[in-house]
Amino acid sequence: MNTNSSNIMALAPNTSNKRETVCIFGTGDFGRALGHKMIQSGYPVVYGSRSTQISNLIPKDAEVLSHAEAAQKAAIIIIAIQRQHYNFLTPLAEILHGKVVVDISNNLKLNQYPESNAEYLAQLLPGAKVVKAFNTVSAWALQSGALDASRQVFVCGDDAEAKQMVMNIVRALGLTPLDQGSLLAAQGIENYPLQLFPMWKFPIFLSLGLTAFFFFYCLALDVIYTYIYEKNNFSFFIAITIPNRICPVMALILLALVYLPGVLAAIIQLYRGTKYRRFPDWLDKWMLCRKQLGLIALAFASLHAVFTLVSPMRSFVRWRTSKGIISQALNNKTEPLDTTNAWLSDSYLALGILGFFFFVLVGITSLPSVSNSVNWREFRFVQSKLGYLTLILCTAHTLVYGGKWFLSPSAYRWYLPNIYMLSLVVPCTVLVVKFVLVFPCVDKPLTQIRQGWERNPKYFE
Ligand code: NAP
Repeated sequence: MNTNSSNIMALAPNTSNKRETVCIFGTGDFGRALGHKMIQSGYPVVYGSRSTQISNLIPKDAEVLSHAEAAQKAAIIIIAIQRQHYNFLTPLAEILHGKVVVDISNNLKLNQYPESNAEYLAQLLPGAKVVKAFNTVSAWALQSGALDASRQVFVCGDDAEAKQMVMNIVRALGLTPLDQGSLLAAQGIENYPLQLFPMWKFPIFLSLGLTAFFFFYCLALDVIYTYIYEKNNFSFFIAITIPNRICPVMALILLALVYLPGVLAAIIQLYRGTKYRRFPDWLDKWMLCRKQLGLIALAFASLHAVFTLVSPMRSFVRWRTSKGIISQALNNKTEPLDTTNAWLSDSYLALGILGFFFFVLVGITSLPSVSNSVNWREFRFVQSKLGYLTLILCTAHTLVYGGKWFLSPSAYRWYLPNIYMLSLVVPCTVLVVKFVLVFPCVDKPLTQIRQGWERNPKYFE
């Protein structure tokens, strides 16, 4: 059993009320904020500083001594100093021998140094028990108590006892320690606060690029073309009409892009006859950001629903409706109900409503709080089966709505296809390939490959 687990410690808290003195090197922003929080939690704090003069910024009950004097007063020394100044610690190696030295530092860039700051500290102080902690908590959050986003404190270190002592302090401060293992994990922990939505970058850039492309495409065909050839000024289309064309198109394409890497992976596995070879890097990265692609697709679908609901309020739509009524009145002729059109319009609305319903369901299930409460099979059922059902419904919704455009020559302005036709290329491709993949003659070998079977096994017993 792993006695380092934070959960085990949570069940067996330190019952002693007496807190051990903690030494903090550095009276900068973080050192002061941490010292303040520690004093509040009952820890006597002694600072090691280049200047022993007490300033009014330093917590009232803390002592300020020279580094050597302060280190002698505590078993745990927290280094609240930038890495580039660490060499001042070398002469203190003797005093720090056998003590728990906590590295809390961060860098300015990802992988800034060949080794992590904590490993560098361990090299400078070979006799000390170095633990990495606290770097993911900001001084501001410690001081203001706004810890909503940063209650988790990653802790790592090679000495289990030292790590446990630090995790006890973390807990006493009202934070949650997460044991990340040995000091080798320090590099990852130091990179963590520098990451900026790593999984969202590709989906966001792709969405922005495609949105810009479709915006100019619609602008050219719906506004500029009609202005040049039909002398109609439809520039107001920019506000609602064009966004309400782009949103469903983006939702459908992005949803299809969630499922495209899965079918590509299946084709690659079938071709290679094994699952034991790595996918190309781009496919791996694509698969990792499918959730983000799906959530952005859902956002576009929601916008489409809102734009569509406000449609009857638009002056252009009201004008077009009244124009139709007046022309019928002037001609004294009521147009008969076109049941084919009525069927088409009702079907496309029904498909859209159902598609959106399943889209929301799949989106909700991808949220961690929900996905944590379902098992792996249930999660796969929703994400895969219901996901494909959503893709089928949304593709059918677009096909029924835009189908009439395919045959009409007026849809090909400047010989370019309508935006709805473009939007169907990726989803139809995904659905056709998926349809082929579920055929028993393809599905059977694929299932075998995924269970470990190899066409040309590399290793024989
Ligand atoms: P800071 O305000 O610049 O304070 C650093 C302290 O280091 C100074 O106040 C000084 O303390 C000491 N120092 C400066 N030059 C030194 C030298 N040449 N030799 C010895 N000591 C020296 O920085 P900070 O914001 O508190 O950050 C300290 C560490 O915490 C950094 O490694 C940072 O990455 C990490 N951290 C900061 C935050 C944050 O929100 N600020 C969050 C997580 C981690 P004395 O004058 O008392 O000697």
